[in-house]
Amino acid sequence: MAERVAVTDGLNWPRLGEECGVVGIWGHPDAPRMCLWALYALQHRGQESAGMAVSDGVRIRYHRGMGLVAEVFPRGVPEQLRGQAAVGHVRYSTMGASVLSNAQPLFIRFRHGDLALAHNGNLVNAPHVRQQLEDAGSIFQTTLDTEVVAHLVARYCARGDELPEALSRAMRELRGGYALLMMTPTSLIGARDPHGIRPLSLGRLEEGWVMASETCAFDAIGATFEREVEPGEIVVISHEGLRTLRGQEPMQPALCIFEFIYFARPDSNLRGMNVHAVRKELGRQLAREHPADADLVTGVPDSSISAASGYAEEAGLAYEMGLVKNRYVGRTFIQPDQQTRDLGVRLKLNALRKVVEGKRVVMVDDSIVRGTTSSYIVRLLREAGAREVHLRISSPPYRYSCFYGIDTSARAELIAARSSVEEIRKQVGADSLGYLSIDGLLKAVRGTRQEYCLACFTGEYPVPIPQGLGKASLEEVRGYQGD
Ligand code: SF4
Repeated sequence: MAERVAVTDGLNWPRLGEECGVVGIWGHPDAPRMCLWALYALQHRGQESAGMAVSDGVRIRYHRGMGLVAEVFPRGVPEQLRGQAAVGHVRYSTMGASVLSNAQPLFIRFRHGDLALAHNGNLVNAPHVRQQLEDAGSIFQTTLDTEVVAHLVARYCARGDELPEALSRAMRELRGGYALLMMTPTSLIGARDPHGIRPLSLGRLEEGWVMASETCAFDAIGATFEREVEPGEIVVISHEGLRTLRGQEPMQPALCIFEFIYFARPDSNLRGMNVHAVRKELGRQLAREHPADADLVTGVPDSSISAASGYAEEAGLAYEMGLVKNRYVGRTFIQPDQQTRDLGVRLKLNALRKVVEGKRVVMVDDSIVRGTTSSYIVRLLREAGAREVHLRISSPPYRYSCFYGIDTSARAELIAARSSVEEIRKQVGADSLGYLSIDGLLKAVRGTRQEYCLACFTGEYPVPIPQGLGKASLEEVRGYQGD
């Protein structure tokens, strides 16, 4: 389980801020329901808010709310949302932005009529572009990057562009990692940043089309995978069919490697590879690089289980369920004091004494961000009787903040930015600690440094971060959040 920082899930469980999930359905008689099911499949990408906009061919209606998909749509799709096209969004908000006005899809009325937008990612130059737009008279309703895109697009449309061309112009002004869906009453448009940092795939329904952040959403609605939307590409779907245009020339590819390590669901595929299979390979590679004298291997649920099973296979050790996660602890859990919070964490995760007592345990986790979660889990295993705890991490040390849609907190809070591996081992209380190397990681994803974003390990950002803008100052300057 990645230690996610900056936001708690109601249990004061520190979390690495996740990104968002987007889905768009076109040309299906039951598009809203398809969209809802796809949102359920994408729930892991954001639990703060959810929403859906539906087109009946003439106008767009929408429904958004705070909380999980099931909380926002407790009785399924609301009666008033009927149509053959829909755009949905699940949102993870960064610190303090968990407000309804920032829930998506965003809805605006502009020169060409209704427009709904759903966006995943961060624009590193959004504060700058926003300032320019405000200076020119634009008035913003939200603190979302998405609204910056909407204003830019509306401005170009006002000058006479059709929507796809206006989006293309807007993309040339935007810097960052994003996957974007836009819907008018008569078209669905998908676009991806020119580095392809954030994922977006295209699928086929028996009747219609779908675009989504992850292919697991296609499985949920019986769609077949067609292809990934290319970096810099704009896909336009309407009654005239599907066409694509080059929004921006593709640049050096830089898919977020953390999609493989942690974010994506194991049953999703990216770049033609199954995420679970890649995670198993991460674990195998980790076992080759950092073997341990141990009795069993366990993984931190849920995201580290694939890597832990790969480690166990390669090491010839038993994989055991040493940790159990309670998925049903509500996010609304009240946490008035430290004691209640500690109890809350215990409700969330527990160690299986029967499995670990007296054993030398290899515990595989996908990352260490701040170190507090790892310390807690090591302690949990020891309290359950583990004789030794050997911590193995299926990614390299997380040393740099992300600026492209993942909230990892300020760099100063990243334990690997200020401590050596040995110092981290001591701080988390493990008997040994081993991180996967960057070469090992690249081997598992069958790629090179020129194909993935590795910036949180290397500090080499594919999209330059505006000068002098550290993570803390970025948040200060922005004063608002990505999506
Ligand atoms: Fe992903 Fe890290 Fe790059 Fe952010 S910096 S996009 S988390 S690989």
